Amino acid sequence: QAAATDDTTACRTQAAAHFVFVPLMAQGHLIPAVDTALLLATHGAVCTIVGTPATAARVRQTVDSARLTGLQVRLVEFPLDYAAAGLPEGADNADNVPIECMQSYFEAVALLRAPIEIYLRANAPFPTCVVSDFCHPWTTVLAANLGVPRLSFFSMCAFCLLCQHNVERFGAYAGVADDNEPVAVPGLEKRFVVTRAQAPGFFRGIPIPWWEEFADYVERARAEADGVIMNTFEEMEPEYVTGYAAARKMKVWTVGPVSLYHKRGAEGTLAARGNAAAIDAGDCLRWLDAKDPGSVVYVSFGSIARAEGKQVVELGLGLEASGHPFIWVLRNADDYDAAARAFLDELEVRVAERGLLVRGWAPQVLILSHAAVGGFVTHCGWNSTMEAVAAGLPMVTWPHFTDQFLNEKMAVEVLGIGVSVGVTEPLMYRAAEKETVVGRSVVEDAVRSVIGGEEEAEERRRRARALAIKARAAMQEGGSSHRNLMDLVDRFKAAS
Ligand code: UDP
Repeated sequence: QAAATDDTTACRTQAAAHFVFVPLMAQGHLIPAVDTALLLATHGAVCTIVGTPATAARVRQTVDSARLTGLQVRLVEFPLDYAAAGLPEGADNADNVPIECMQSYFEAVALLRAPIEIYLRANAPFPTCVVSDFCHPWTTVLAANLGVPRLSFFSMCAFCLLCQHNVERFGAYAGVADDNEPVAVPGLEKRFVVTRAQAPGFFRGIPIPWWEEFADYVERARAEADGVIMNTFEEMEPEYVTGYAAARKMKVWTVGPVSLYHKRGAEGTLAARGNAAAIDAGDCLRWLDAKDPGSVVYVSFGSIARAEGKQVVELGLGLEASGHPFIWVLRNADDYDAAARAFLDELEVRVAERGLLVRGWAPQVLILSHAAVGGFVTHCGWNSTMEAVAAGLPMVTWPHFTDQFLNEKMAVEVLGIGVSVGVTEPLMYRAAEKETVVGRSVVEDAVRSVIGGEEEAEERRRRARALAIKARAAMQEGGSSHRNLMDLVDRFKAAS
């Protein structure tokens, strides 16, 4: 059996709410879960975050810094049984598990239920609530055994969740033969069009029966939850938050943007958010300090999407032609073919001080909150989208898969802060299913249209800045997310 490693002292408060966070071991799920735990701890809760060793390593510095400020939060590691699961030793976070091992990985993670339960029974205070990533349906059993409520955690917007729910509830894809045929999302006042390929449903559309069963299991666990915590805020999408709560007949607590847990001045902690950065935060800030306000475009496709050589070249040429300074994050630079690598080396020489290439992990929120940054070329992961919202930045939207196409609609059609590069078909998880290459001139035009000076661009920037003001207000005393965090801490406190 897996043994827990807990390097923290026992938490003190007996009557406080004690939330046990079970994040999915992938940065896009882990980072917002940790921020949410820290926000709840700020409001007086005790929080235990459980994770595999590689996952814990990504957030240990953030959690340790929070503990030093007096927050009652602990991070507890549970190794997987790698050999029994047929996983490479230590492969326990989405960024180091081979794609072909994903089923084994999910099965191995579910086996952590017993050791987690043993740990929680043995280490006071007793939990009062399990906050589980929606991808961990086995936590229904964990919460039931402990006799405590379970909330589903989503770092997603209510718009996306409601659209997905409605296409399934009303059978919108029934009789649609072609995965790329446009379908109107039923049950919404405004018209939005999606395709099954863009929004197949969580874990749906994988031609392996195990995943279809897993998707059903996930859906059952979602339906049985005692409520939902979401990284969004009411003022940004009031009708969709209300609509989703009504459709699910479930209490929804919106608590975002959770990245605003990290205050200005906490650059050290921010730089380490989610992983060790591949660039020195000080060097990065100095580079940004030397640029004009609002002139820099930041380009990143998150923690999972991978670019292929040909696309890398087109994107690089587009950034070069835009004439704007840029920071470009190349997550899988080591995998590029020789031609793409040579291209990048030459590009770096040509653009010199105008371009900063980060090969690996970038301190994203630190960068986005710098005044020199004026736009974000993004894959529309929901965390990145919320981070753009919190920073008041317009976006160039370039979705790849999962919820990203609906997030793009949110940015472009609902909020009016995004310009699409026009990708309509998903790129498969980690690799291009077919060669969809966005050309250099599309990149150039999109970058110019978010950073440029025309009236339409200025309007977009105004909307983005106004939204950021609302986002900050939501997190401050009297704001909706602040109120929801306090309500959670109050509602789930221990019976004294
Ligand atoms: N992130 C980061 N540096 C990177 C890449 C990603 O800090 O180089 C963070 C980003 O700020 C966000 C998360 O990782 O909080 C990515 O989540 P998102 O939902 O945007 O995309 P995913 O990685 O899940 O596709």
